[in-house]
Amino acid sequence: MDQKNNKQNLMDKITALCKRRGFIYPGSEIYGGLQGTWDYGPLGTLLKKNLKDIWWKDAVEKRDDMVGVDAAIMMHPKAWEASGHVEAFTDPLVECKICHERFRADEKEKVLEHIKTHDGKKVDWTNPQKFNLLVKAYLGVIEGKQSELYLRGEITNGAQVNFRNVLDSTRIKIPFGIAQIGKAFRNEITPGNFTFRSREFEQMETQYYIKPDKKEGEKWFEYWKDNRMNFYLSLGIKKENLRFREHREEEKAHYAIAATDIEYNAPFGWSEFMGIHNRGDWDLSRHQKYSGQKMTYKDEVAGEEYVPWDIETSAGVDRSILFLLIDSYEEDDPSTGSGQGKRVVLKLNPKLAPYKAAVFPLLANKEDLVKTAKDVYYSLKKDINGMVAFDARGNIGKRYYSQDEIGTPYCITVDFQTLEDETVTVRNRDTMKQERIKIEKLAEFLNPKID
Ligand SMILES: [Zn+2]
Repeated sequence: MDQKNNKQNLMDKITALCKRRGFIYPGSEIYGGLQGTWDYGPLGTLLKKNLKDIWWKDAVEKRDDMVGVDAAIMMHPKAWEASGHVEAFTDPLVECKICHERFRADEKEKVLEHIKTHDGKKVDWTNPQKFNLLVKAYLGVIEGKQSELYLRGEITNGAQVNFRNVLDSTRIKIPFGIAQIGKAFRNEITPGNFTFRSREFEQMETQYYIKPDKKEGEKWFEYWKDNRMNFYLSLGIKKENLRFREHREEEKAHYAIAATDIEYNAPFGWSEFMGIHNRGDWDLSRHQKYSGQKMTYKDEVAGEEYVPWDIETSAGVDRSILFLLIDSYEEDDPSTGSGQGKRVVLKLNPKLAPYKAAVFPLLANKEDLVKTAKDVYYSLKKDINGMVAFDARGNIGKRYYSQDEIGTPYCITVDFQTLEDETVTVRNRDTMKQERIKIEKLAEFLNPKID
């Protein structure tokens, strides 16, 4: 099989695994789906929550210069005029004149692919038009008197409009940041590549306010680039699959002085899943102008007052999840040792893994084994931070493989020796090695690895 097929194959396998095991389902599937939306299942919800928790701990809790907000998705329409989204948040759109399907003009490959679907007929396209990505909504209870607004196209604005509120309600001083996690909505012309380009998605962002100064801007821009790259490396994404890509002048967003993406080497090509942007004073000065409210910072010590600059880090939660799944997906052939054939294993960082441990009785029909296994299961649920699974179906090999496939880092088996000396076997997902550990020492053994 050639490389392109292999890569497509990998995406198909991951999509199938996500549905089969309950990570991610197509949105509204029983009604034939809603294009560009995805629903997270029981395991995907846990994975996503773990990622967001680790991100929040790293970006907010362990620092002393960051606070959080959780702003409303629906905002005053003027906020989007101020931020420039009504005018400039557009993609170039072309339409096939035969079937009226629409594509992004800059996605040349998809346009070429589409031409092939018309059996050699000459395909004419409309001229590229600007298409605004903001999703409209209508708010109010009186038909005809509703106000038109936008579901937020990015979560940034919710932090920016609260800049003064945060200053006035905390004692935080520049440089400082506002962190936020939340949903955003875009009328993507061509959603695709599984969850990569969706119409509803979640973002994790920090807006870091600094003195309006070129040197300061460069310093903090570099700082946040390294900080974010190190964060993704710390999650265990392979170094060779991550890179920075600086935006060319013509592709910079309307607000950006400088912009660099962190890209992942996805099966569908190097792809952006987070960006670091020097937004200058764009947001605050525009909101100051449009709202008529002061958006300045007063430096009492230096006796200055200014509109600060903002160095933003903006990451897609769903894209991060997708790339973590791709990066950790492996097919092993442990048959060389165990003779049990192939297995699929998600080598997820244990801190991210949906389930932290699974407990099995060696045999499902031996009452004392089952009872002891249940006791271990319930006490672990209490003593470790994270989900624990219990499984008594099938043979032990199948149970191991079932947990490997969802990334559970440790499997704990209660066997006949347990009944004698109160030890269990703990099997490591990655090495498949087993060791015996006292039941009372289990939480102590697991906690530092998973939390
Ligand atoms: Zn067509």
